[in-house]
Amino acid sequence: IPDDEDIQKEDNIRCLTTLGHFGFDCLPQQLVNKSVQQGFFFNILCVGETGIGKSTLIDTLFNTNLKDKKSSHFYPNVRLKIQTYELQESNIQLNLTVVKTVGYGDQINKEGSYQPIVDYIDAQFESYLQEELKIKRSFVDYHDSRIHVCLYFISPTGHSLKSLDLLTMKNIDSKVNIIPLIAKADTISKNDLQKFKCKIMSELISNGIQIYQFPTDDEATTDVNTSMNGHLPFAVVGSTDEVKVGKRMVRGRQYPWGVLQVENENHCDFVKLRDVLLCTNMEDLKEQTHTWHYERYRCSKLQKMGFTDVGPDNQPVSFQEIYEAKRQDFLDQCQREEEELKQKFMQRVKEKERAFKEAEKELQDKFEHLKRVQQEETMKLEEERRQLEEEIIDFYKMKAASGTLQTQECTNIRKD
Ligand code: GDP
Repeated sequence: IPDDEDIQKEDNIRCLTTLGHFGFDCLPQQLVNKSVQQGFFFNILCVGETGIGKSTLIDTLFNTNLKDKKSSHFYPNVRLKIQTYELQESNIQLNLTVVKTVGYGDQINKEGSYQPIVDYIDAQFESYLQEELKIKRSFVDYHDSRIHVCLYFISPTGHSLKSLDLLTMKNIDSKVNIIPLIAKADTISKNDLQKFKCKIMSELISNGIQIYQFPTDDEATTDVNTSMNGHLPFAVVGSTDEVKVGKRMVRGRQYPWGVLQVENENHCDFVKLRDVLLCTNMEDLKEQTHTWHYERYRCSKLQKMGFTDVGPDNQPVSFQEIYEAKRQDFLDQCQREEEELKQKFMQRVKEKERAFKEAEKELQDKFEHLKRVQQEETMKLEEERRQLEEEIIDFYKMKAASGTLQTQECTNIRKD
């Protein structure tokens, strides 16, 4: 290929220097600009017992002081508290939603403690699915509230996971990316911490609980993510207090024997957690949420509604065909139900008619009986009246006869 000067000499062509860079290697820049304009959204779910350090860790992670009032240990059931914050760092805006459990682990019966968490995660998937199914979708201003990561706070005081931890994680591991954390890790010695971490990991594996694995397929992050996977569960310490160490002020917890520096990697895994959440894996967490967890929910939901991609003959079935078949099924069912209702109605009418007739007959019989009784009564009275009249007549006859007799007797006496 001849160089520019040769061409200029040969063909006397004028060479212009380009003003700026062009080419499709600029494409990523467009994405960056668009994302910066739109801002970033991130939704975190914190699951852990009351007082385990959820609020403090969130404040430490995002350098905020959200002043959450201390939660009580006496709630009758588990609730979720949702807080949304708009954070700004240089020109990047982060819309952060933090969902925290309230009253988790405080009830005597812990059976249903995980249910509100499962319901909440599903409800966010459902609302996204409803938006997707709309004819006029508006994802531009839709607030996507699906949970991108669940920080599961494990108590540092036990020897292993509690049954509540296992039960909850088992019920949510197919719905959300779980990152297990050992809370208040400053309360465990270094040796115990290592043993505790191994124990937790082996328990998670033996119970078949799927936790988030940092992806190792991207060359740029392979090394860091492989090492991160080896550090799980992260042992974290939270504190927003500034403590003096030498000449520097650092965030840490002051103890009589020294300072635990939150951002010192020899003291705890806080920096590792912050790096994976904010610097290296936020996009992957969001992608996993969409492509795995939401997809699984959507698939099972549509299957429950009777939709399928292939028919019984393994041939693809179109959405239209399924819709029409479903509609026909629905209409048939409506007709069947209408028939059933009509029949039931007719049967009830007949039953009522029969009951009325029986009641009418009963009344008629009663009436006849009463009529008969009354007739008999009348006849009896009539008979009595007749007898009485006869008696009266007889009485008068007798009276008349006795009158005549008396007169004759008087006449006889006078004659005498
Ligand atoms: P939440 O109820 O889970 O939100 O717990 P909070 O964040 O309100 O913390 C409860 C208490 O634990 C507070 O007194 C915190 O100062 C303390 N705390 C929080 N994080 C840590 C930690 O990492 N280590 C220690 N030792 N205490 C902590």
